[in-house]
Amino acid sequence: MKVLKFGGSSVGTPERIKDVKRIVDKYDLPCVVVVSAFQGVTDHLHKIAELAASGSSEAWDLLGDLTRQHREAAAELITDKSKRDEVLKKVDEILNELTETCTGIFLLHEITRHSLDSVLSMGERLSSWIISSYIGNSIYVDARDIIKVDESVGNSMVDFTVTNNLIREKIGTLPQLTIVPGFIAGTITGETTTLGRGGSDYTAAIIAAALEAKVLEIWTDVEGFMSADPKKVERAYTIENLTYAEAMELSHFGAKVIYTPTLRPVYKAKIPVIVKNTFNPEAKGTLINGELRDQGRSPIKGISSIDHIDLVTLQGPAMVGVTGTSARLFGALAKRNVNIILITQASSEYSITFAVSPADAGAASAAISEEFAREIKSNNELKLLVEKNLSVIAIVGEKMKNTPGISATLFTSLGRSGVNVIATAQGSSELNISVVIKNENLKKALNAIHDGFFLSPYDEVNLFVAGTGLVGSSLLKQLQKQAKILIDEHYLKIRLLGLTNSRKMLIENKGIPLDSCRDLLKDEGVKADILEFVRQIKKMNLRNSVFIDCTADPRVAGVYGEALKDYISVVTANKIACSSDYTYYQHLKSIAHGRGVRFMYETTVGAGLPIIKTISDLVLSGDKIYKIEAVLSGTLNFVFNEMSSELPLSKAIRKAREKGYTEPDPRVDLSGTDVVRKILILSREAGYSLEQKDVEVKMFLPESCFEGDINDFYRKVEELDGEFEKKRIALVKKKKKWRFFATLDNGKAKVELVEVGQDHPSYYLEGSNNIVLLTTERYKELPMVIKGYGAGADVTAAGVFADLMRVVNV
Ligand code: ADP
Ligand code: ASP
Ligand code: MG
Repeated sequence: MKVLKFGGSSVGTPERIKDVKRIVDKYDLPCVVVVSAFQGVTDHLHKIAELAASGSSEAWDLLGDLTRQHREAAAELITDKSKRDEVLKKVDEILNELTETCTGIFLLHEITRHSLDSVLSMGERLSSWIISSYIGNSIYVDARDIIKVDESVGNSMVDFTVTNNLIREKIGTLPQLTIVPGFIAGTITGETTTLGRGGSDYTAAIIAAALEAKVLEIWTDVEGFMSADPKKVERAYTIENLTYAEAMELSHFGAKVIYTPTLRPVYKAKIPVIVKNTFNPEAKGTLINGELRDQGRSPIKGISSIDHIDLVTLQGPAMVGVTGTSARLFGALAKRNVNIILITQASSEYSITFAVSPADAGAASAAISEEFAREIKSNNELKLLVEKNLSVIAIVGEKMKNTPGISATLFTSLGRSGVNVIATAQGSSELNISVVIKNENLKKALNAIHDGFFLSPYDEVNLFVAGTGLVGSSLLKQLQKQAKILIDEHYLKIRLLGLTNSRKMLIENKGIPLDSCRDLLKDEGVKADILEFVRQIKKMNLRNSVFIDCTADPRVAGVYGEALKDYISVVTANKIACSSDYTYYQHLKSIAHGRGVRFMYETTVGAGLPIIKTISDLVLSGDKIYKIEAVLSGTLNFVFNEMSSELPLSKAIRKAREKGYTEPDPRVDLSGTDVVRKILILSREAGYSLEQKDVEVKMFLPESCFEGDINDFYRKVEELDGEFEKKRIALVKKKKKWRFFATLDNGKAKVELVEVGQDHPSYYLEGSNNIVLLTTERYKELPMVIKGYGAGADVTAAGVFADLMRVVNV
């Protein structure tokens, strides 16, 4: 004997019901099939009851929709006319009863517990009747006749003695297929009641236990019991095997895939449970039994959460060292049927905190206020606090027992994502650790924990990119090219969730495909606004988010602080933030440090060359930077290397611009501003708190060149071409070359055009290359030399990519 339960999602439409029949047809008999109401119908009924109680005639419109839905489903499934008429008659009978009950509620403006249960029961009554007629060759047994609830106790309870006997008597002897509505039950006095939302699972478990079934199969809309709710954690995967205790713990803390009381009867009767997917019957699903099998690489099996809880705290001096306070507290709560989800008490005994469903919070407060009225009144000896909009997350696994470091991983994962833990509890069985957090952080927290415990097959990084110019576009191409290798070899999935340039911006929760992101930005983007872009990133509140700035825009540089504050790492190729006021630069670094996120700007000097990292490593390891001599402008080096009798200064500048070596505005390079910014960044990295005004600049073009617009600039430089050519010929004669040098010496920085001879390491610096000579305490006699391509979109993008990889620790 097997018991199969098909949930609402498995019987949502006639098409799906046909799938159910295909599955059931393959089973050997005898077999019991328990079915839920059609998907969404119980919610719909609840709404109708509420509307009727509020006197709204909308209730009748919804009732009309419900009638249509069931009549249409019956008509579509049952093709034989006389059989169909018979089913429709029964459907109408149930719907008439529903209308009568709703009319009563409507007239009285009141819903009693029984009238609500009666309304809610109609979903299963309708669905089970239609399904059993459609499947045919089956016997219909009304669950109200076999599952009996005793309402005389505070919380209604199934009377197992009566129930088990009835089940054995009414189903146990049947040799064929039996179809039973889930969720509904009868009271001892013969009224209709329900087993609580999601209760069809429980119906099936009660029947399976009473009949000592070989197995209980829960057929639903997911591949089994998963490591987390797949609706909240995309990377959740199916758990092959769970013990009853693990499954109970996960379902108690919100894993809706199995209704919490379900496992109790089958656990006692040692009946294995299999959770399977109606939409993919071939998949193995999850086996729940008493065996602790190999647990895989993670010490935890799964994570679950209850989305909405309230936290109630009773605190004050009257609690310290006073015995019996807990007994009074929990006694008072029990009297009012308050269900407690989690309890925690600090060892100081100054307070007791517990979590309840928001629906129970009022009753909990009332119970406590009454029980401790004297202490609360007298001089604030006790205080009652209620915190709202919270969620609880539980991590569960039998292997947690005696494994150290679990809490550390849990709290580190949360801390790194900026999620504050409000309360925590661990059962002494060490089967679960629970944390209470703000509801707004729930999704982020679940994902952070899931990844933190290596429950995911890969880690995920969420990118928000500003700038689609040369560097930005090259980066997007490189990311696209490398995406598969990162997943296959480094278990890292890159998701582009936001893209903006100066005209448009696009934010997409589900991700923007890298291969078409620029077209999508053009076609679907909205007007760009960098502040709004960052606001939306913050609102998404995702873990492992990185903001990448591939612009040269000061407005973009101005938002880093906002991003870092919200635990969003920043990778930038834009020099402005690091070379603006020293206090802003320091501020950004200190927020990043405080939040445990990264602020990376390697490409602001020397494109992809490892200059900043090298200086930073030297300083961190105790070296002292005495002197930096550097050719840091790829643009200027290119210009001076390219100049010839055929290519005068103005043309060489234009060529550099065309090749993408210059800043968007080449005057930033030609005025020395770009080099000033770079030496400033390096000086700061070396430990000197310089400002732009502290850098001495010796210009090689007269200031008048920089007055007017870019066309004026080119025109004025053209006027100087002849003069520069004369100087260049003289220089060649001297066997010297021009190099635009930036120097930091003894804490003083300057930039200037220098003539270097063949004996200088920069003499042979080709094309747009950069060179940096570091004289330090350790590299005193022979300075350390870093040399290579110092400009160009591709190498800069590659440097940004490398920074990103360091952010995610690849
Ligand atoms: P049914 O209608 O079949 O009873 P439910 O909606 O009650 O289905 O339960 C299945 C849903 O439970 C899934 O769609 C999923 O969103 C949710 N769920 C929550 N936690 C888990 C988990 N750990 N594993 C699988 N599903 C989960
Ligand atoms: N139909 C009921 C509900 O939606 C019971 C169930 O689906 O298990 O809560
Ligand atoms: Mg369910």
